[in-house]
Amino acid sequence: GFCHNDSLPRRLPPNVTPEAFQAFISRAQSIVGAENVTVVDPQNPLEDGTYMDNCKAHDMHSVYERDYFVASAVVAPRGVSEVQAIVKLADEFIVPVWPFSAGRNVGYGGTAPRVPGSVGIELGKNMNKVLEVSVEGAYALVEPGVTYFSLYDYLVKTGLREHLWIDVPDLGGGSIIGNAVERGVGYTPYGDHFMMHCGMEVVLPNGELVRTGMGALPEPGNVPGLAPHEQKPNKTWQLFNYGFGPYNDGIFTQSNLGIVVKMGIWLMPNPGGYQAYMITFPRDDDLSAIVDKIRPLRLQMILQNTPTLRHILLDAAVYNPKSHYTDKNTPLSEAEMDEIAAKLNLGRWNFYGAVYGPEPIRAVLLEAIKAAFLTISGSKFYLPEDRTEENSILRIRSDTLQGIPSLDEPRWVDWLPNGGHLFFSPIAKISGADAALQYEVTKRRCQETGFDFIGTFIVGMRDLHHIVCIVFDREDPEQRLRARWLMRTMIKDCAAHGWGEYRTHLALMDQIANTYNFNDNALMKLNETIKNALDPNGIMAPGKNGVWPAGYDKEQWVL
Ligand code: ADP
Repeated sequence: GFCHNDSLPRRLPPNVTPEAFQAFISRAQSIVGAENVTVVDPQNPLEDGTYMDNCKAHDMHSVYERDYFVASAVVAPRGVSEVQAIVKLADEFIVPVWPFSAGRNVGYGGTAPRVPGSVGIELGKNMNKVLEVSVEGAYALVEPGVTYFSLYDYLVKTGLREHLWIDVPDLGGGSIIGNAVERGVGYTPYGDHFMMHCGMEVVLPNGELVRTGMGALPEPGNVPGLAPHEQKPNKTWQLFNYGFGPYNDGIFTQSNLGIVVKMGIWLMPNPGGYQAYMITFPRDDDLSAIVDKIRPLRLQMILQNTPTLRHILLDAAVYNPKSHYTDKNTPLSEAEMDEIAAKLNLGRWNFYGAVYGPEPIRAVLLEAIKAAFLTISGSKFYLPEDRTEENSILRIRSDTLQGIPSLDEPRWVDWLPNGGHLFFSPIAKISGADAALQYEVTKRRCQETGFDFIGTFIVGMRDLHHIVCIVFDREDPEQRLRARWLMRTMIKDCAAHGWGEYRTHLALMDQIANTYNFNDNALMKLNETIKNALDPNGIMAPGKNGVWPAGYDKEQWVL
């Protein structure tokens, strides 16, 4: 909204006086232009917006009151040198900043900062160019605001989509950089986004600019006097990840050590053919047998992509809200879930995969896949054209699994009225026994808390990302409380079984970080040492993933 120089926010950053805040804002305006600075003043109604038109100062799926995780202001730099200047300004004023790219990050906190009153740095608004696409090298170099939709459109418009496919997560509105740095996943053979990134340009907490990997080696032929970010990148920056010496890219993921302003991402050459499929399994307790079939197929890369094994209620929720199936507001029973599966002509578990390559290759792979799975009694194999129902999930997945971004998936949050959601995302072995136990432990807790179990197993290279979707009525404080209790309880339960989560919402970061406590918290000590060395004033995303700078008493921030 419109902002006066003298306006004060709903919430000031910690230990920042109103006068210092105003001085900070006026300096920020002179750096990025007044039109790129928004103070979140007390009149700001904190509207949630929509997925495509998302709010920028709080979490649209808030699990506490909307104005708890709220920014004091949002600043949108127009280029790398402005990011550097804003970071230096924050360091001078000791104002915490919270960078984000597209700022969707649904189920994990959206754009909201961990420390109320932090200044959001919105990178996606003005820094959204596809800087390069190389067909020969099969990669793109992008700015933070490039989303799956925008990269896909770019490839279609330039005729390059014929040569190169992207990998997309369930929803296309997220940014390539935001998702990769959060170590998010998609579903093609390039589904592990951090694995497929190559080369970063990063603004450090002191404002300095670093290129990682091969980017550290200057390319000959640069005109003298160019700012570092304008210098021609090394020709192998996007081709070889590791460069020379310690490999640093990992410390810029799920972290608070820098702002990624450019990143390379590998694209998949058009495989020359493609076929999505679905296999349905009739019984809840087929889970263990299915997972034991998945493991060897995935290890041998007969399953070429990142397939998913979805619980019936995830699919049911994409089709209809809960009220369509039942009048009750307690968890559905086994018999009711069987009934829903029958009605939708789906299994209690539904496996969505795809094969890639010319016809003879696909035929061989599909035969092997069918031979393995269809030994499970009652299982059925479908191609997209076999599913004629409206909004068929297999047809939606058929787009997603070939890197065509979509918006259809999030309908499952409408399972309950005012549906908001949290993801609980523990890692499991690809083993029937492990997956079945994790399912049992999490499902029991969901039902005990009064929620339906809604979930999916995403098959990584050697692990399952088990995603439990907790849908709650975000206008109902009692349901929010229960959702938080459920998360905290499942974190404890899972840690007791030796399972940890791969990513989480702001509200749960500390608790999960505390479960990764081998050898007297040696990992956290390492993280804090690096944090304090790179960011002595603790301005960059304090508390992100449980890492607090020395200037914060982390006990005081426990939720
Ligand atoms: P998405 O692009 O999926 O909508 P966000 O832009 O909200 O996701 O990013 C998710 C999280 O990733 C942010 O809250 C922030 O912690 C981190 N992040 C996003 N972009 C950057 C970036 N360019 N540099 C550093 N961290 C980032």
